Amino acid sequence: MSPSRPLLEGRDLRRVYRLGRVEVPAVDGVTLAVEAGDFLVLEGPSGSGKTTLLNLLGLLDRPDGGTLLWEGRAVGDLDEDALSELRRDRLGFVFQTFNLVPVLSAAENVELPMALAGVAARARRERSLELLAAVGLADRAAVRPDLLSGGQRQRVAIARALANDARLLLADEPTGNLDSHSAEEVLDLLERLHEERGMGCVIATHDPRVRARASRVLHLIDGRLEAAA
Ligand code: ADP
Ligand code: MG
Repeated sequence: MSPSRPLLEGRDLRRVYRLGRVEVPAVDGVTLAVEAGDFLVLEGPSGSGKTTLLNLLGLLDRPDGGTLLWEGRAVGDLDEDALSELRRDRLGFVFQTFNLVPVLSAAENVELPMALAGVAARARRERSLELLAAVGLADRAAVRPDLLSGGQRQRVAIARALANDARLLLADEPTGNLDSHSAEEVLDLLERLHEERGMGCVIATHDPRVRARASRVLHLIDGRLEAAA
């Protein structure tokens, strides 16, 4: 595979929500390419389509129009099983609200995707401890999320997103629920993982602290990309 091929390419992507007779063009003709070297910030006001676009790029939702290529493969031709496999093996997701399972420990949360992928118990425990160490939480492995700070929860969520050696990390407002100090810590972590692992990152946000770290900024307005200011 050519090293210069983008991880993913979207061409004229569209997603229209239908509310009765009203059509909301949430993503309205977006063309973009994401490379492994990207630390790409997707900014835009609330309602501009950031989450909808991330969901399309992350194969959580299918476009109503346009073409999405993952490492050169047209995603539209893939069935649900193939899509789940791609999501499982290539993608990591991080959300504003962390989305950890409250009754599981930090280590068990990190192990969850590996359990779903059929990794043996011992191997996934080893890997989860390694990942928690990588995000600076080696000593919190046995602790449940409600005993962790917001910043620590987001770091657990990031460790979970890395469980499969994701090639691309998609983060939706990852600092939205964090104080400044925790936000900076989480951003330091994302930046370091991006550099060390050569993992592409796409971060939707309206947090200026995130923008300051970007290798590239895309600005979304009413579902369309505009030149960044
Ligand atoms: P952002 O993440 O930038 O705030 P969204 O992608 O959530 O933007 O929303 C883009 C537009 O699509 C908004 O007008 C929003 O109201 C609408 N929208 C988002 N999700 C849905 C949905 N599930 N059903 C109907 N409309 C939606
Ligand atoms: Mg959103």
